[in-house]
Amino acid sequence: MKILSAAYVVPISTAPIANGAVVIDRDKIAAVGTFSELGKKFPDAMNEDFGDAVLMPGFVNCHSHLELSIMRGFLDDVEHDFFRWLLKIAVTRDQKLTARNIEVSALLGAAEGVRAGITCFGDIGRSGAAGFEALKKAGLRGIVFQETEFSPFDQKAAEDFAKLREKYWSLKSSETALVKPGISPHAPYTVSRRLFELITDFALAKGVKLSIHAAESISEEELMLANSGPMAEFYRDRGVSWQAPGRTSVEYLAEIGVLQAKPLLAHCIRTSERELELIGESGSGIAHCPKSNAKFGHRVAPFEEFLDKDLKVGLGSDSVASNNICDIMEEGRFAALTARARPDKKRLVTAREIVETMTRGGARALGLESEIGTLEVGKQADLVVMSLEHVAQLPINDIYAAVLFASSARDVISTIVAGKTIYANGRPSMIDESELKAEVKAISRTLRNS
Ligand SMILES: [Zn+2]
Repeated sequence: MKILSAAYVVPISTAPIANGAVVIDRDKIAAVGTFSELGKKFPDAMNEDFGDAVLMPGFVNCHSHLELSIMRGFLDDVEHDFFRWLLKIAVTRDQKLTARNIEVSALLGAAEGVRAGITCFGDIGRSGAAGFEALKKAGLRGIVFQETEFSPFDQKAAEDFAKLREKYWSLKSSETALVKPGISPHAPYTVSRRLFELITDFALAKGVKLSIHAAESISEEELMLANSGPMAEFYRDRGVSWQAPGRTSVEYLAEIGVLQAKPLLAHCIRTSERELELIGESGSGIAHCPKSNAKFGHRVAPFEEFLDKDLKVGLGSDSVASNNICDIMEEGRFAALTARARPDKKRLVTAREIVETMTRGGARALGLESEIGTLEVGKQADLVVMSLEHVAQLPINDIYAAVLFASSARDVISTIVAGKTIYANGRPSMIDESELKAEVKAISRTLRNS
């Protein structure tokens, strides 16, 4: 048993505690309160005092693509054209990188997350296994959603589903208490209706979590509604026969029954009042990715409405190939500023709401709220410890404002998952970063020259 103490404890489930402490017993939280109270109650527990710092639930990044981390800054030349960007990703991943390269890429992303105080990822991977193993290696928690291949043809659905199911079972056979598999039907425009139905039936029968990209770009909406726009042209040029459902992505997913499986929907930028109702009624989640959305010029998602409708919303960095960094504090700051800057805003979203979204919100979105997301007795001991000593943070008047508006990954001093410290003293404890960095540089050199 140990007692961690600091100037502030922010449990999320209750008000912040000055001179607070958290008692950890193996992988679980045994008590939360002031240090003066808990020090007396647990006299034999070893005390680690972090001084001018804040202890809070670890950040949840509910939408990432760790396996693409090697492509940080590699696609910025085509990001003005979303479809070309998607294509460059696919060609690079499928034709230029080896399986080993993709493993290194995912580990790079995991190391970045550990340093940023992220304790849990909702990661999507075409390779699946790369992100899965990277989380295990780094000591992180997460759900890795095995992604579908390009599969818009009903005729191929049964065959593609059989392969997908095999990959899922393979991940499932090596799951751990911390890292579990899910499935990601990539998006309504790359997955056929039949394949969606097969995946949904499977998810409902076996209790498999799903995550889907939905309502992200204007070209997606044009393709879905009227088979027009750049994506439609691209499909026509390549002889892909596409029947527009005449519905937006969320309406379509509701209509064909996919929302019954309560998927985690990434982006949801272009969503109407009715679509938000469909998401809420079905109990589906949203991964809000404000930086990636803005970097592509995809517009600003109605985050304030997600909150006001009490939807299960968490934050996602998306891949660093678009973002270009994975830092949930920066993501939260961006969520606040873009929501407040919307011309149709009715109020200013608060720092407290967003810090909640970064922790409990992400846990709800991933369906893990009974295990993580707040500092409560009996929950998993997933914590971030953040220094409050940087001059750019001082003075501290409001702890939520300090965390959201004046802190970043720079300030993280310790990351703890299931009671185990996976980042401290400036380095991840389970990853050899010098070896990793050398491999990353070598792969990147080869990629640039290819
Ligand atoms: Zn994504």
